[in-house]
Amino acid sequence: MRDTWKKRTKAVHAGTRRSGYGEMSEAVFLTQGFAYDTAASAEARFIQAGEDEFIYARYGNPTVAMFEERIAALEGAEDAFATASGMAAVSGALSSMLKAGDHVVASRALFGSCLYVLEEVLTRFGVEVSFVDGTDLDQWRAALRPGTRAVFFESVSNPTLEVIDIAAVSEMAHAVGATVLVDNVFATPVYSDAIAQGADVVIYSATKHIDGQGRALGGVILGTREFIRKTVEPYMKHTGGSMSPFNAWIMLKGLETMSLRVNAQTSSAEHISAALQDHPALERVIYPGLPGHPQHELCKRQTGRGGTVVSLDIRGGKAAAFAFLDALEVVLISNNLGDAKSIVTHPATTTHQRLPDDQKLALGITPGLVRISLGIEDPDDILADLRKALDAASSAAAA
Ligand SMILES: *Cc1c(COP(=O)(O)O)cnc(C)c1O
Repeated sequence: MRDTWKKRTKAVHAGTRRSGYGEMSEAVFLTQGFAYDTAASAEARFIQAGEDEFIYARYGNPTVAMFEERIAALEGAEDAFATASGMAAVSGALSSMLKAGDHVVASRALFGSCLYVLEEVLTRFGVEVSFVDGTDLDQWRAALRPGTRAVFFESVSNPTLEVIDIAAVSEMAHAVGATVLVDNVFATPVYSDAIAQGADVVIYSATKHIDGQGRALGGVILGTREFIRKTVEPYMKHTGGSMSPFNAWIMLKGLETMSLRVNAQTSSAEHISAALQDHPALERVIYPGLPGHPQHELCKRQTGRGGTVVSLDIRGGKAAAFAFLDALEVVLISNNLGDAKSIVTHPATTTHQRLPDDQKLALGITPGLVRISLGIEDPDDILADLRKALDAASSAAAA
């Protein structure tokens, strides 16, 4: 692998380990363990495993290692640890480095399960967590203090697509000695430059754009070799959240086509958000790639493009939103994102149902809000489907 290769080349070739057969497609090493030639070689490997030596699939596996090397090359990180799911990555990255008495500052607009880990789990073990409006740099400045151990945020928030300034928050966090962990799912590895912009640790749910075909759960933690091998790996390998070799193979194959899919999905999101911008059935079209979005300039600077998700605030509340969902044919009702199939979600009654109403409203999760993850279908078919469903929403709102 050459460091000078561009992302698309790395996504196809980086990290490949060929067996003696010279197979073209990466091999799935579907094995829990590895046989040692002698007792002495087992002992030696437990003292220090070499680059191409493995002990047990919870610790590492050749197929998993290929995925880790490929995604690390793509992200510009020194190293990576692959996990069983995106949430194993989020909770593993935080739990591996924090202890009782530590202080964490996090953005409030988070994926429901991330909020659960920070609010319910870490606090139970004596970690203090302060929440801020991630788009307001003054709130970060006020919440950070000498000794703050970590900062956690989604660079683009779910489902309201607020963009957080990685460079500005990292600078403030580093000034007090805090480690910056970024959940970068919505930015995708295709448009991310998070490490160059200041993030110390980047986390992906591989379930989303990396698989991109709705088949398997997975996640990854990226960072310095020191952080990944000395902090994350001991925690993950002993607590059990490692990625399965079969899922690593799915994710490797996913990486090969990821940029083609994500670029097509983003083009559809750009086309559709612009086309629906002034639609009378809509209160708002939320898309960071639209010039009217509050962080549009930051989005251009940070990721270049607005990504694969568009949120719509439909007039007429829950009844209109449900009429919209039920009238869709191409776009399926589900809660994944980044899939080849277009997906619509009603966050207030599903992914964010758990939140009290006042908290939902504070986060902009109104009864009319729907999140659309654009797939790779023909954008004209998706747009026609959305327009027809917006007519149904208008009728429901008028009734
Ligand atoms: C989906 C998602 C996760 C969790 O990933 P899983 O693979 O479902 O565990 C975490 N953060 C964000 C922003 C997500 O979209």
